[in-house]
Amino acid sequence: MATHDIAGLIQKKRDGGSLEPDEIHALIDGYVRGAVPDYQMAALCMAILFQGMNVSETAHLTERMLASGTTLSWSTPDTTKVDKHSTGGVGDKVSIVLAPLLAACGLAVPMISGRGLGATGGTLDKLEAIDGYRTDLTVREIIDTTERVGCVVTGTTPDLAPADRKLYALRDVTATVESIPLITASIMSKKLAEGLDALVLDVKAGSGAFMKSKDRARQLAQSLVDTGNRMGVKTTALLTDMNQPLGRMVGNAVEVSESMDVLEGGGPRDVVDIVIALGAELLVLAGLQPDTRRSAAMLQEKIANGSAMEKFREMVAAQGGHLETTRPVAPPHEIGAEKPGCVTRIDTEAIGRAVILMGGGRRKMNDPIDRSVGLEMLVRVGDVVRIHQPLVRVFSHHRDVDQIEPLVRSAVHVSEQLSEPLPLVLETFRSAP
Ligand code: URA
Repeated sequence: MATHDIAGLIQKKRDGGSLEPDEIHALIDGYVRGAVPDYQMAALCMAILFQGMNVSETAHLTERMLASGTTLSWSTPDTTKVDKHSTGGVGDKVSIVLAPLLAACGLAVPMISGRGLGATGGTLDKLEAIDGYRTDLTVREIIDTTERVGCVVTGTTPDLAPADRKLYALRDVTATVESIPLITASIMSKKLAEGLDALVLDVKAGSGAFMKSKDRARQLAQSLVDTGNRMGVKTTALLTDMNQPLGRMVGNAVEVSESMDVLEGGGPRDVVDIVIALGAELLVLAGLQPDTRRSAAMLQEKIANGSAMEKFREMVAAQGGHLETTRPVAPPHEIGAEKPGCVTRIDTEAIGRAVILMGGGRRKMNDPIDRSVGLEMLVRVGDVVRIHQPLVRVFSHHRDVDQIEPLVRSAVHVSEQLSEPLPLVLETFRSAP
């Protein structure tokens, strides 16, 4: 496409017009080949950020980004392929529990996951706390392991949606990451490259989420559901609260251990509830159960009879991990309340940042991670606390406690006013019947 033709399409979008499927096709294919330069694609992203895209444009953008790479092709057409995607939160360890749990129900889960983004931790960084665990499976290994074991949790490969990698890097440096259609196409092109039948999305809203406002999170949830269903993948989204960390543990080794507690039938109530809520949506979408009540009972049964934990052990072994090797955890240190009162608010992003400051996440790409550090939240919003009652247990090496303590202390707001506990699942977005 000639430079002035591309400029014409940018102008059309800038002026509020809709791009046709063949125009989106030419732009994305041209960008991946290098025929559309970065400066024109940046201008187009900015026009999309301001003007938005309708459902049809977003689906065509997703489809072209998906077509830029390989789609996993399965030799077991009778097995239902499902996955879950979360927009990311502090203490979000749901993938580690849900993938083997769904596999224990007979579904195939080729879960391609990510690393920490901003203040939120990444599933791959957490799983790498398990000695030997590989997160760099090839496409062939993803297919073979999923077909043999029932699930994998691994990183992306260069073959899957390469257009997203190039476009995301450009958006990152041109202040266009937050466009809802661009986020939708980015997430969905990578997920749909897994060759799925059904997908559930956990769209988080709150102080520890990528989307701080509930309204924006709601728009993203609707856009993801519309795009997935339009592209033939049964898709549901839950809007969930991220105004406090999920579960008690935040960090890498400590979150793996908490996930294993849930797989063994224990663990914090909120983690269990969200795992069951997301899993139940998928069992219904996959046609395994007629409603979410019966789906929840099936999921609880797979935890109670040990089959979910057994699947987790199989998956870890298949990915080279050794669960029997001790996962070191840094020494604990408690931070107590300076006054009595009620926990009214937790600055969840600050909690995530504290873990990064201790070395549990990256400040720059390629920073090494200390998987032994983390935090244990000893209180939740709505709890009444006494003076000096421990609020947070910090697992840290002595050298950084002085820096971390004020940050963690100021993140947990204790006030004289009472506060209600926060609801967890706020809304459900399903496709129109
Ligand atoms: N996560 C993604 O994968 N893509 C985005 O654009 C934003 C968050």
